[in-house]
Amino acid sequence: MSDIRTISNWSGTEVPPGECRNVFLDVSESYSGATVKIPLQVRRGKSDGPTVFVTAAIHGDEINGTGAIRTLVTDEHLQLCAGSLILVPVLNVLGFDRHSRYLPDRRDLNRSFPGSATGSQTSRMAKLIFGEIVARSDFGIDLHTAAIRRTNFPNIRADLADPGVERLAQAFGAQVTIIGKGPQGSLRREACAAGCPTIVYEGGEVSKVEPGIIESAIRGIRNVLVELGMLDEPPNRSAQPLVVKKTKWVRADRGGFLEFHVAPGDIVAKGMPIATNASLLGCEQNVQRSPFDALVIGLSTSPTVSPGEPVCHLGQLPESAEDIERLRKRLSADRLHDKVVDDLATNITIPEPPES
Ligand SMILES: [Zn+2]
Repeated sequence: MSDIRTISNWSGTEVPPGECRNVFLDVSESYSGATVKIPLQVRRGKSDGPTVFVTAAIHGDEINGTGAIRTLVTDEHLQLCAGSLILVPVLNVLGFDRHSRYLPDRRDLNRSFPGSATGSQTSRMAKLIFGEIVARSDFGIDLHTAAIRRTNFPNIRADLADPGVERLAQAFGAQVTIIGKGPQGSLRREACAAGCPTIVYEGGEVSKVEPGIIESAIRGIRNVLVELGMLDEPPNRSAQPLVVKKTKWVRADRGGFLEFHVAPGDIVAKGMPIATNASLLGCEQNVQRSPFDALVIGLSTSPTVSPGEPVCHLGQLPESAEDIERLRKRLSADRLHDKVVDDLATNITIPEPPES
């Protein structure tokens, strides 16, 4: 879908086949009038092939993906045999500088695509990113974490009805894929609509660089490059990814202090306790239970809640309860599973659950 903007020419910076260049895209101006630039790296194989973008921190505080891309940009052994890779450690540089999900105009960049050249600060930035990065690409991978005070077990978000997206999701080889198009105005939804199949990877928490999450992201990105003929190495995928069609947030009914009985990546049967809510003086107020057989996708990382606040994000499982043990084994068979769970669970209390 490239037009006059080609993968070899970036506002005066030439990137010949077989070469790697750092590029700085002008995207806005600060209040003091300084030019705001997005730093990115373009890597090209010697042969022709697809162009893939990998972006992180479109929400400026979600920097696990930044850690993954920084590992790739400094990897001298990452040699593409074909095609081109656009690596963007931080898309939302204005939010990143403020440890914020949002831009200074309080808008969400990931609800503002494809953007407008005459719109808000965020909309103008979205327009530029779409034209300079998405329009040059044939496929995309956008890296996220859970929102603030939550954590996520690593998963892929993908519209599997799109054959190009399905190919990427299969190739990535994550343990869990959640089906969906994504919100209106999100980079992945609008990129897909513009003919650039794109998936989202979600894992971990904001403001952290978690080793297991990063290793799992890099493994998936390399798997995609192998599938597209851009890297010559054996793929390294999870054996049988779990596909989730429907998710639900369990929300607090009472204000109080939570003790969790599950961790991200656990499989729970319908009715199993997820968290016990107690008062500050230790009186048990209620036990929140799973409404269906589910995979624990995400959890609150804050032990304090008031009514309506999120406790646990569950993915409904298609299989019946008697398959739960088999699903647990399937997830834990992945080489990275224990590492990811250990990394995620460090700030979550998991005492013995109460009797059902
Ligand atoms: Zn995000």
